[in-house]
This record gives sequence, C-alpha cells and structure tokens, in this order.
Amino acid sequence: MRYVSTRGVAPILDFEAATLAGLASDGGLYVPETWPRFSEAEIAAMAGLPYVEVAVRVCQRFTAGSLDEAALRTIFTAAYGRFAHAAVVPLKQLDHRHWLLELFHGPTLAFKDVALQALGLVFERFLAQSGQHITVIGATSGDTGSAAIDALAGRSGVEVYMLHPHGRVSEVQRRQMTTVLDGNIHNVAIEGNFDDAQAIVKAMFNDAAFAARFPLAAVNSINWARLLFQVVYYFTSALSLGAPHRAVAYAVPTGNFGDVFAGYVAAQMGLPIERLVVATNRNDILHRALTSGDYSAGTVAPTDAPSMDIQVSSNFERLLFDLSGRDGAALAAAMAEFEATKKLALPQAWLAKAGLFSSARVDADEMADTMRWALAHTGELLDPHTAIGLAAARRDTGNAPMVTLATAHPAKFPAAVQSATGVHPDLPARLADLMTRTERYDIAPANLQAIEAYVAERARAK
Ligand SMILES: *Cc1c(COP(=O)(O)O)cnc(C)c1O
Repeated sequence: MRYVSTRGVAPILDFEAATLAGLASDGGLYVPETWPRFSEAEIAAMAGLPYVEVAVRVCQRFTAGSLDEAALRTIFTAAYGRFAHAAVVPLKQLDHRHWLLELFHGPTLAFKDVALQALGLVFERFLAQSGQHITVIGATSGDTGSAAIDALAGRSGVEVYMLHPHGRVSEVQRRQMTTVLDGNIHNVAIEGNFDDAQAIVKAMFNDAAFAARFPLAAVNSINWARLLFQVVYYFTSALSLGAPHRAVAYAVPTGNFGDVFAGYVAAQMGLPIERLVVATNRNDILHRALTSGDYSAGTVAPTDAPSMDIQVSSNFERLLFDLSGRDGAALAAAMAEFEATKKLALPQAWLAKAGLFSSARVDADEMADTMRWALAHTGELLDPHTAIGLAAARRDTGNAPMVTLATAHPAKFPAAVQSATGVHPDLPARLADLMTRTERYDIAPANLQAIEAYVAERARAK
C-alpha cells in the first residue's frame, strides 16, 4: 500500500516511511492512495473472532510490504495483552438503543492506548531493522502524552519530547506523564494552550534544517498508523451488533478528528455505518464546519473535557481531502488560506459529500446532566468526554443501534465527575499510588526557538 500527501506534493511513501515521517514534507498528512474494500462475506467472516485477529485482517491491507500478517499478530498480541479486559474494548448496553464502547482499559485509561501501545512496538521494530534513531515530538491535551510515554518509555532508538499546556491538563493526566522517569522521556509544560503546543510541533516538522539534524516522528493523530489501529474497534463493535447485516451508528467525542476519522475509514472499507455523530464541547469548530461550512477557529475555551479543547483539528484535513475529490492542489490552497486567516468557508460541493456525518455541540450543563442520567439509569459513571458523546447520541433520532465511544476512564477526570455526580471515581488498583509518585518536568515558553533549543541541548548531553 502506498501513501500520498493531502497536499499533493510530498513524495509517495510506503507504510513504514509514512509511519516514521508523521507530517508530510509539503505540510500535508499522509493517507492511503486508495481505500481497500472488504466484501460483505469478508466482513461477516470476522464475526466472533478475537480482537487481535480482527486487527490483523483490517490492518494488513494497509501495511502490505512493510508488516506482514505474522508481524502484525505479534505486535497486536503484545500490545493488547497489556489491557485489563479480556475483550480489549468491551461493548456495554445502556438501554434498548444505546451502547458504550469502553476504550479505556489500557495502561493509561484512555482510548489512545489502543493505538499507541501498538505504535510503540511498530516504531521499535522499524528502528531495529534500519538502525535509525528518532526523536518523537508531540503535543498533548493530556491523554496522547501519557499513552505515548507509556508506550515508548525505555525503548531503544527513541527520544520523546512531550509538550503539554501548563496547568490545563488534569492532575491525574499530568502525573501519568511526569512520573515516568526513564531517561528517554522529556516532559515540557509550555506556557500556552494546546493549539500553541500543536503549532510548535507542526513548525518543527516544517523546519527542514532542524528535522535534518533530528529525524522527527509524530505520535499525534497526524500519524496515519494511529488512526489505522483505531479503525479496528469500529469493526469489532459493529460485528457484535449485527454488521454486516445491520447498520450501526456511532457518537464520537471529538477533538482532533482522529477517532471519528477512523470511523469514516471503516465506512470506506465497507462496514455499514449509518451515521457518525461528531460530538464537540463549546470549542465547536467542527460542529460549525459540518452544519454550515464555517471552518473558522475561535480562541480555545478551557472546559471539563480538556482533550476536546481544540480549535484546529488536524485530521479534518484528511476528510477535506476526500471531500475535495482528492484534489491536493485545491486542498493546499484551502489550508494555506486557513493557516493565514484562521478561517475557511467550505465549498457547498464538499459539504454535500459529508452526509455520513452529523454533529452536536454539548455545553457544560448538558454534559453534567448526562453524567447524572447515566449513573441514575444505568449505574455507569462516565468521564466528561464520554458524557458529551452520549449526550450527542441521545439527541440523535435515527433507528440504528447507537454506539458511544467511551474514550476515557472517569478516574482520569475526578474533579469533574465528582462535581457532576457527587461520586468520586477511584483509580484502578494498578494506578493506585499515582498521586504519590515522584514527578519530573520542565516549564518553557510557547515558542519554537525555545523548544528547539531544549531538544538540541538534551541531544548534546546524551
Ligand atoms: C483525545 C481524546 C479525545 C478526542 O479524540 P480525537 O481523536 O482527537 O478526536 C476525546 N476524548 C478523550 C478522553 C481523549 O483522550
């Protein structure tokens, strides 16, 4: 399988090179040259298989030439063996129509473990084969950072620099990153918000001189492999609910448009998905874009669902590429306009092709009401992100079974959960001592030069 950039200029790469590259050299994102399609019979044949086997079947179409079936099976067996639930991602029924897909049974309690546990092993395998060293640079609104750090701590050939917005991640999220003391892990709290951190990471990738000194790799969802590994749970959950003979709908709490884009990929592959509901909090650029074509970034408002406090959703570019008819030049022009003015009016012809998606903006009161409803009527304690997803799901009026992606464990966001429900969510036993572990991190200004100097200094010291 070959990978092309959404902006049409960067070299075409194979899966290995696209995985290690992260951002394409023309500023675009890598996507498969075509969407592989399963027949209905091929989908039906996956029903009842263990998670790892479905993962192998879905992913091998995309990794051909770089990772074969046996390599994928080894990687997925190790990655998902670390999950605390035998189903990896159990599906729980809430009422006659609604289901929760629990994606938070990995080591750091958010769905990002599903992709990053596998990606860490993929990196290690590619680097061992080539003898290369890479510098992983990431921006996190909390959950990517802890999942990437857990997946990459102590791995050889990889140095990790993780930027998080100072004071804007929960204490549990921060400690999950800063209490990992391995020498290849560097946590930096930047004096800015998540979009500032993400902009610095993008600028580093675009700084050719810097990237030549330090081969950079991305663990944000700009990395294609991450999205690929998330496609798998759409298959396993839809199969459980009757696919390919019955269509299923999903509500996805969304920030960077990665998780919901994985659902779009599953649909392109032939999985019968009736609708993807994009759930946002008051940082609603995606809701505005999908309902009225108004893709314009406001300022980020901090909320109790910090992993969705995003105004510039990187992966939306991957959808726009398809909506534009895969016209790299048109997309490069549109993204240049957006980067310069922070606004873009999406052409009606593009929006017309986005019929798979609906969207909802959920405010703080509705989020808290949904947490109380779920606890009272189903006994489930939801984290704030999942509550936003479920609120959007419950507004949807379709008939298909509706799966809300439960993206984090409630104990990751104890203050918000307690204030909405009066119940304090306990950390699972394996993390019980988190609040007393030693922390290590640095604080830095939100500017490119400062962060590049920080990386260069630490590379020299090694
Ligand atoms: C990252 C994250 C999201 C948003 O996911 P995207 O792929 O960026 O849209 C939602 N909820 C939680 C708990 C997260 O960690």
